[in-house]
Amino acid sequence: MNVHDSERLAGLLESAGYVPVAEGSDADIVVFNTCAVRENADNRLYGNLGHLYPAKKKNPAMQIAVGGCLAQKDRSVIRDRAPWVDVVFGTHNLHRLPVLLERARHNAAAQVEIAEALEVFPSSLPARRASQHSAWVSISVGCDNTCTFCIVPSLRGGERDRRPGDVLAEVEALVAEGALEITLLGQNVNSYGRSLGDPGAFARLLRACGRVEGLERVRFTSPHPRDFTDDVIEAMALTPNVCPQLHMPLQSGSDAVLRRMRRSYRRDRFLGIVERVRAAMPDAAITTDIIVGFPGETEADFADTLDLVRTARFAGAFTFKYSPRPGTPAAEMDGEVDPAVVSERYERLASLQDEMSWAGNRAQVGRQVEILVSEGEGRKDSETGRLSGRARDGRLVHLLVTGPHAEDGVVRPGDVIETVVTRGAPHHLTADGPLLSHRRTRAGDAWEAARSRGAAGDRTTGEGTAGDGTAGEGTAGAAAGAGRPAVALGMPTMRPSSPASR
Ligand code: SAM
Ligand code: SF4
Repeated sequence: MNVHDSERLAGLLESAGYVPVAEGSDADIVVFNTCAVRENADNRLYGNLGHLYPAKKKNPAMQIAVGGCLAQKDRSVIRDRAPWVDVVFGTHNLHRLPVLLERARHNAAAQVEIAEALEVFPSSLPARRASQHSAWVSISVGCDNTCTFCIVPSLRGGERDRRPGDVLAEVEALVAEGALEITLLGQNVNSYGRSLGDPGAFARLLRACGRVEGLERVRFTSPHPRDFTDDVIEAMALTPNVCPQLHMPLQSGSDAVLRRMRRSYRRDRFLGIVERVRAAMPDAAITTDIIVGFPGETEADFADTLDLVRTARFAGAFTFKYSPRPGTPAAEMDGEVDPAVVSERYERLASLQDEMSWAGNRAQVGRQVEILVSEGEGRKDSETGRLSGRARDGRLVHLLVTGPHAEDGVVRPGDVIETVVTRGAPHHLTADGPLLSHRRTRAGDAWEAARSRGAAGDRTTGEGTAGDGTAGEGTAGAAAGAGRPAVALGMPTMRPSSPASR
C-alpha cells in the first residue's frame, strides 16, 4: 500500500512539473514515504535523514520532505530530531505535498501539516506507476478493526470504501493503457462494501473484474479471516482471471494469542478457509503473515503456530518479531517475551517455513507454468543471463531464454511466456527448459515504447488534483528539470503479488 502511495506522490510531483533524477545523481528534493508498523521503521527514517544532512548543508536550497505513517505519528518530533527537514505531511493530506514544498521555499520556513481525517481519496491523484504490466488499485483505505498490536487504524483512520464503479473505471483505464494484472488493495478487503451497505460487494467486484476484457490476472491483499466468506472463495474459483493465490494473514496459530491480539477468528476457522480454498482451487499458493513473541506467548502457544504452519503448508510467509507500537493496547500488556527467546522462536519458525516453501516449490518441478515477465525482480539476472517473472500463483520464476528469443527486446517485460519448471529453491523457481510459447502483449509494447522514450517501467496516469495517502519508505531525488526542481522519491520495484519468501 505504501508502494502505491509512493506512486501517487510521484505522480503528483510529476504533474506539478518536477522530474525524477537518475539513480545516483543529486536531487533538489528528496521525499521520504514512511511506515510505522514496526519500530525499525523509526530508526531507519532518522538514520536516513542523518545521512542526508551533509548534502543539505552543502546545498541549503535542497528540500527534504517526510510523509506517511511515521510523519502522522511523530509530527513535529521529526523537525525536533532533524531540523533540516523542510516539509512534514501525514497520511490524510498527501495531495498537499507540492503546495507545501512551494510554500516552504517561498517563505523560507519549514511546513508541518498533519490532517486528522482523510481529505481526498488517494486514488483521485495522478500516479506515476512503476510497472507497465502490473498495477495496484485501492478499493479502500483505513481499517475498522482493533488488533491490539497494530498502529494502522490510529494513523490511517477508519475504513473508507471506494465505490465499485470507481474501482472498475480505474481498472479499465489501466487495462486500456496496457496493464495485464491488477492487485486490489485494502487493509481488510473482506469488509469491503459494508460501509456502502453492500456486504457481498467484494465477491461481486472480483466477478466484475472477470468481465474486464484484456485483464489477465487479478490478485488482492489483504483478506481478514474473520470476514472471509464462501462467496469470495466461489468468486475466486469461478472467475478465470482471478489468480490461484491467497495472501491471508494468520498472525498466530494459538487461540489464546489470537484472543489477546483481538483477532476475532480462531485457528480452526483459519484452517477451514485454507481447506475450502484448496478444495475450490487445488493449485492455489497460500501465503501469510505471522508475528512471533506477542506479549504472553508461551512455548505451547508458539508450538501451536508451528503446528498450523505445518498443516497449512504455506507457500511463503512474512514473519515478524512483535514490535510494541505506542498507543496500542498490546504495548501496555504484561508478559513481554525475552528478546533472546523471540529470536530463537523466530529462527525456528523461519526455518520451518523455508522447509515448507522449498517442499512446495520442489513439487512444481516438471509443471508447465505461464509467466508474466517482469523487470527488476531477479537481482542476479544480469549475472545469470536469466529473465524473471511471476507464475499465475504468484511464485517468482527465474528463466533461461535461449536461441532467437534470447536476443535483446524479443521477450520484453510485460510479455507472457510458457515454460516448464526445472528446479525449486526455497524462495523461487527456475525454468531453464525451452520456451513453449511466447506472447507479445500490449504491456510489452507499452514497456518498449516507454524504453524508447527513455522511461521504461514508468508512466504517469490520472488527472486528479488532490488526495490523501502516504508515501512508503522510499527516498528519491529529482534533478532540476524544465522550470521545476527534480525529485527523488523512492519507488521500490515491488510488484503486485504475494510474498515468494519472507
Ligand atoms: N491488514 C492486514 C491484516 O489484518 O492482516 C495487515 C496489515 S499490517 C500493516 C501488515 C503486517 O504487519 C501484519 O499482518 C502483521 O503481521 C505485521 N504487524 C503489524 N503490527 C505489527 C507489530 N506491532 N509488530 C510486528 N508485526 C506487526
Ligand atoms: Fe491492523 Fe488489524 Fe486493521 Fe490489519 S486488520 S490493519 S492488523 S488493525
